[in-house]
Amino acid sequence: MKAKSGDFVLPGDVLGVTEEFVPSEWTYEEDGEIKSLVVGKVSIDEKNKKISIIPKTGTPAPVEVGKTIVGQITEVRGQRASVKIEKIKGIDRELTTSFVGGIHISQAQKGYLSKLTEAFRIGDIVEAKVTKVIGLDNVDLTTANEELGVLKAMCTKCRHYMVKTDKEVVCLNCGRKERRKLAAQYKG
Ligand SMILES: [Zn+2]
Repeated sequence: MKAKSGDFVLPGDVLGVTEEFVPSEWTYEEDGEIKSLVVGKVSIDEKNKKISIIPKTGTPAPVEVGKTIVGQITEVRGQRASVKIEKIKGIDRELTTSFVGGIHISQAQKGYLSKLTEAFRIGDIVEAKVTKVIGLDNVDLTTANEELGVLKAMCTKCRHYMVKTDKEVVCLNCGRKERRKLAAQYKG
């Protein structure tokens, strides 16, 4: 498929190939193809060979490299924690599409971490920075900086949110203590 200017597209629709066009606003590249990140209309700049999308709903909040996002941990498996991205920090506009990010164990904190479950658990709310946008469900994130990490830790035993003590978090409901890679602004 090759899109034309004015075509209406959905997230994930193929717009063209990277040999022909340069992916621009609201698009991403996957396996040599350029795809749309949002619902909107195709805009092709023939002169500069740029392909972009004009989003349908005003300007959605941009998930892009360097932005800080807030999301919830949905899975911690092996070397990677999955994050459902809920919002961009500092921008109240909604995300038009749902993005799923991942934090690799090497990006969780500065220094060595033996197990990713010592940094994150399912249900935790995290603040993380976008390092790469590969696709809708493939956004690379980091929490290595001091200020980034878990904003709210969910107790693995009773699912209550926990409070911060010196270097741990503790559940006031069941008394369980756990470890996390905490954000500087831990909200508990
Ligand atoms: Zn608990």
